[in-house]
Amino acid sequence: MNNTMSRFELSKIAFTLAILFFTYSCNFKSPEKSEFDDQVSSLISNMSLEEKVGQMTQVTIDLILKDDSNTEVDPEKLRTAILNKKVGSILNVKGNAYTLKEWHAIINQIQDLATSETPNAIPVLYGIDAIHGASYIQGGTLFPHNIGMAATRNPDLAAQSANVTALETRAAGIRWNFDPVVGMGREPLWSRFEETYGEDVYLTSSMGASVIQAYEKNDLKKTDAIASCMKHFIGYSVPASGKDRTPAYIPERQLREIFLPPFQAAVDAGTSTVMINSGEVNGVPVHGSEFFLKSILRDELGFKGLAVSDWEDIIRLHTRHKIAATPKEAVKIAVNAGIDMSMIPLDYSFYDYLVELVNEGEVSMARIDEAVGRILQLKLDLGLFDNPLPENEAIKNFGKEEFKDLAKQAALESITLLKNESNILPLSGNKRILIAGPGANNIPSLHGSWSFTWQGNNSNYYPESTQTIVEVFSSYFAEEGFNGSIISNANPDFNHPDNYNTSKLISDAKLADVIVLCLGENSYAEGPGVIDDLTLDKKQIELAKAAASTGKPVVVVLVQGRPRVISSIESEMDAIVNAYRPGSQGASAILDVLTGTYNPSGKLPYTYPKMTGDIVLYDHKFSETIREDQPNTYGSGAYRPQWPFGHGLSYTSFAYSDLQLSTTSIKEDGEVEVSVNVANTGEIEGHHTVELYVSDRYASVTPSNRKLKGFKKIALDAGESKVVQFKLKASDLSFVGLDNEWRTEAGEFDIKIGNLTSTFNLQ
Ligand code: BGC
Repeated sequence: MNNTMSRFELSKIAFTLAILFFTYSCNFKSPEKSEFDDQVSSLISNMSLEEKVGQMTQVTIDLILKDDSNTEVDPEKLRTAILNKKVGSILNVKGNAYTLKEWHAIINQIQDLATSETPNAIPVLYGIDAIHGASYIQGGTLFPHNIGMAATRNPDLAAQSANVTALETRAAGIRWNFDPVVGMGREPLWSRFEETYGEDVYLTSSMGASVIQAYEKNDLKKTDAIASCMKHFIGYSVPASGKDRTPAYIPERQLREIFLPPFQAAVDAGTSTVMINSGEVNGVPVHGSEFFLKSILRDELGFKGLAVSDWEDIIRLHTRHKIAATPKEAVKIAVNAGIDMSMIPLDYSFYDYLVELVNEGEVSMARIDEAVGRILQLKLDLGLFDNPLPENEAIKNFGKEEFKDLAKQAALESITLLKNESNILPLSGNKRILIAGPGANNIPSLHGSWSFTWQGNNSNYYPESTQTIVEVFSSYFAEEGFNGSIISNANPDFNHPDNYNTSKLISDAKLADVIVLCLGENSYAEGPGVIDDLTLDKKQIELAKAAASTGKPVVVVLVQGRPRVISSIESEMDAIVNAYRPGSQGASAILDVLTGTYNPSGKLPYTYPKMTGDIVLYDHKFSETIREDQPNTYGSGAYRPQWPFGHGLSYTSFAYSDLQLSTTSIKEDGEVEVSVNVANTGEIEGHHTVELYVSDRYASVTPSNRKLKGFKKIALDAGESKVVQFKLKASDLSFVGLDNEWRTEAGEFDIKIGNLTSTFNLQ
């Protein structure tokens, strides 16, 4: 402890000396001086080129660990990283999640060396993927993936969940989280679809902004705050082929109208960092693009924080994108384009090349100072110069019981009831239930990517308390004295042949009154999750057909990251429940929904396609509905998904009436108040999200069929009614015009809530 204290003293003295040096130094002129605190500018003035380039260098933890250990720091390797290569940032885990204690040991060793033996005692910035919870800390709370959080239509709940992630991450001594993804989920084939908030701009912007505010709390020094990272800027989420990291083609108007707004919302919410898209947009790799990284990100969006590359993506300007003839040229292009920190992360080549490039005059010192200034400013903002070690105040915030309740609430609110023929759900108490299918007794499929390992597919790394669907049903029947019983031979391994044995399913079903069939996707992340066909795989389709052939009612539970096409079996299933990737309390939430303990309220954050070749989104253009099967026929009937965006049933029913507008005509700076009466017309209480859509009847650029402009979630007792109000400004009616600028145009607009429509005029 004394040792640590004295190291702090030393680092503080070094820091003060740096400030003094700066005060008397007159030859440093930072072009961006005003952007940074004086402390940062003074520090920069005292740093060698090598130290500066080191700050811009981020390596993976493997480079500082003993070869034969996942957690033990190799002192020699650490010295190479911190003293020789002067690295400013480290990321990731090797293999699987660490315990809190292991994290503390690692962070302490790194920071001790960085603050005691480097010339300017600059602490290291550790970064992690705490995606849908503290996914790389053993025992961390895992929430539903973003796609499920979007289905909750509850940005406050997303914020509360992000707050827990911030608490648990900072408790480990880590202060930078590579989250959230605010790329738009408009390509369901994409293997990272589950990390998105779905296809809608307004929904994605609202959820992303809430989460960022909850992470950062407007003050990163707070021991319950962490730096967020909006990612991946820009266009990563819509590869033309659907394959991860392959090229996207986005016309500028769509870029501005659909893809930039969530990033703008993230900037406005105060995100400190951005991670760049590994891929290319319109033939331009984003890592090498001044247009994207300066003109758009800085000049237009007004982003002031730190831009970090994605994994190995600078060198890929040479190896993959072929815009750089050598790896060194790749570094030059990326840094000059605006990358501040390189997630190299497997070697030190970036450091070596960049030192050479500056010495050769290929990269200016002003560019380096700008990048280093952003990095140091973040370190300062995070309080790392005051105390870079895990803080006692933060450590006590790990693994609290109430976090589980929150994870359960999030899972409950996300689950979306897609179909409920003859009200087969909720299941009544005296049934004999067969629970089958690959997802029935499996843990990873409930969690998805970034769950204690990168792929999330190894059950051994999940907390022992994690339960499968079969397990929660078994204990429920045992404990609650439910009159029925369950039958299940489901194997914990998603891919085990027993889970696809149709004759076993048929014979087991003889003993059951109802079949709960758990289908979907095993866990995957990034590249390994690439698929060629959105259709649910054949073995599962066969299983569903076998279930239907028994004549017993079949309830399908989907645990999946993206909407796998099930049109060939949908009509034969009695009920279908979409659970997305519900997280650590997911199984228990599924039980509550199936048994009616919780009345489902989730709404699809995407259009659920019926055919792989018919991916039309809800905000399509009118002309997208041309019927190819009936030449020259037009009509909205051609948006024919399995279920539309916003779909989600309840065990009660809701009715809308009395849609009212405060005015039928507004000026360009005006607003219209919208109110609607919502009644719970069923027998039980329920939550319901009211969604307000706007359609522009005619515009100089073809308008969308409709666009979501507001949503509110309310609770209603049986028989209760409430008036729900929205405010719509004229600017909410704007679109990106022929000149690629946002504009409004006079004309008529329809406001649509449920089955009601009302019209007003913009003058
Ligand atoms: C992913 C990022 C992630 C990074 C660090 C990359 O492969 O694209 O989203 O933050 O790895 O783990």
